[in-house]
Amino acid sequence: MAEIRGKYTFPGGTHPPENKHFSENCPIETVPVPKQVAVLLSQHLGAICVPTVAKKDAVEAGQVIGQSDAFVSAPIHSPVNGTVKDITLLPHPVIGRTMGIVIDVDADNNEIKQPVNDRFDKTFNPDNYTVEQICGAVKEGGIVGMGGAGFPTQVKIEPNPRLEKKVLIINACECEPFITCDYRVMLEWTWQMLAGIRLAARASGCKKIRIGIEDNKPEAIEAISDAIRQLGNAGNIQVVPVKTKYPQGGERQLIKSVLGKMVPTGSIPPTIGVCVLNVATCASIAEAVVTGNPLTHRVITVAGCAISKPGNYYAPIGMRVEDLIAHCGGLTESAAKVVMGGPMMGFAIADLSTPLTKTSGALTFLTKSAVTRAKYEKQQTACIRCGRCLAVCPEHLNPTKIAHAVKHFRMDIAEDYYLSACIECGCCSYVCPANIEITGYIKTGKLLKARAKKRLG
Ligand code: SF4
Ligand code: SF4
Repeated sequence: MAEIRGKYTFPGGTHPPENKHFSENCPIETVPVPKQVAVLLSQHLGAICVPTVAKKDAVEAGQVIGQSDAFVSAPIHSPVNGTVKDITLLPHPVIGRTMGIVIDVDADNNEIKQPVNDRFDKTFNPDNYTVEQICGAVKEGGIVGMGGAGFPTQVKIEPNPRLEKKVLIINACECEPFITCDYRVMLEWTWQMLAGIRLAARASGCKKIRIGIEDNKPEAIEAISDAIRQLGNAGNIQVVPVKTKYPQGGERQLIKSVLGKMVPTGSIPPTIGVCVLNVATCASIAEAVVTGNPLTHRVITVAGCAISKPGNYYAPIGMRVEDLIAHCGGLTESAAKVVMGGPMMGFAIADLSTPLTKTSGALTFLTKSAVTRAKYEKQQTACIRCGRCLAVCPEHLNPTKIAHAVKHFRMDIAEDYYLSACIECGCCSYVCPANIEITGYIKTGKLLKARAKKRLG
C-alpha cells in the first residue's frame, strides 16, 4: 500500500508512543451476555436520567429504563432481558459514584446481540428518511457522542435556524494511544458508518462532509475512500488524511486541521457552521434510524501488556469491567493499573465492578513497569521555566501559569489565563521535565470553580 502522508495539522500537540499493535489487527468480537449488568443513569453531558422502572420490574432488551425531560439529555435503555435487582449508587469511571440500575439477566431468555453491519451497503439511500424521522430515532435511541464527550447527538444534528450548519466533519482520528475501536469500525462496518454519516448530514443540513483520518491508518483511508468512490455522486464526501499527532482528535484541533478555521475560545463549532461527529456515533445513528435499535452495545478496545487477550469487543453497555476482564482471559501477574480510556485522557479506576458506559472506548491495562515509567510516578521538582508546556498546548494557553494559580487557590488569576478553555488533553503534563502534573491542577481548578458556582447558584 502506498504511503499516505497527512499534511493537515494544528499548532502544538505531541506524539506519544502509539501502542496500537495490541489490538489493531483484532477483528470485532461479540461477548457473551453477562449474568448481571449495571446501567448508570449518568452517561452523557446534560441532565442525569431518572429511573422509569422500579425494583423487581421485568425489563426487556431495548426498553427505556432512565429518562429526562431536559433538552440536553439522552434516554438510557436496558441491554438485556431481566429483572431489576436494585437502583443504587454505583461506581462511575469519571465522577466517582452515581445512581444506576442493576439488572439480573434472564439466562434462559437472552440472545447475544449481534452487530447489524450486514444490513448496509452502497444502495442505502438516506433520502428515504425525513429529517424528523432521523432526529426522532437518534433522540429515542439515546445516541450520544461515543468518542468520549457524551454530548447528546440529536442536539448536535437537529436543524437550528440561528446556527446553520454547513460542514459535517467526521472525527476518525482516534489519536489516543492504545485505542483501536473506531479503526475496526471503519474497516469492518464501513457501509454502516457511511450510512450514519449521510443520515447525519441530511438531518443537519450539511452539504459538505469531510472525514478526518490520521495518516497512521492507511487501510482505513483506503477502505473508506473506495466506498466513497462506489457511491459516485451520492454525497459530497471526502477523506482528509491528517498528520498523526495527539490530540488530532480534539474537536477544535480537527476543525483547524481540516478546514483551517479556529473555533473562537469559549465558543462551539456550530458558531462557525460546523458539526463534528465520531465514527462509532455515526454507526449508531444508522442502526437507530434503520433498525430502531437504541444504543445498548458498543465496541470497546481492551489493550495493554497486563491483559491476557487484548482485542476489540462488542459488549453490552452496563457490563462490569471485571466480567470483561474474565472474558479476555484475566489479568497478567504484572497488572498494576486499569484505565478507562487511553493513557492521555483516560481515568484510572479503583473498582473493577465499574460498568461500561456509552463513552467507554477502551480499557487500558498497564503493568507495574509501564506505570513506574510514567512521568506522574516520578518525583516532581520546581518549574524550570523551559516553556515546553506552552509550546505543546494546542489551545495556546499558558499551562504553568494556570496550574500555579490553582495551586494557590487564586481562581481569579486562573480564569484570567483561560482555565475553562483547557481541553484537558494532558500534553503539558506529558512533556514537563519537572514532572509537574499540570493537567491535574487544571482539572482540580475546574472542579473548584464548578463547586463555587453551585454554592452561589
Ligand atoms: S493546558 Fe490544557 S489544553 Fe493546554 S496542553 Fe495542558 S491540558 Fe492540554
Ligand atoms: S514544562 Fe514544566 S518545567 Fe517547563 S515551563 Fe512548563 S511547568 Fe515549567
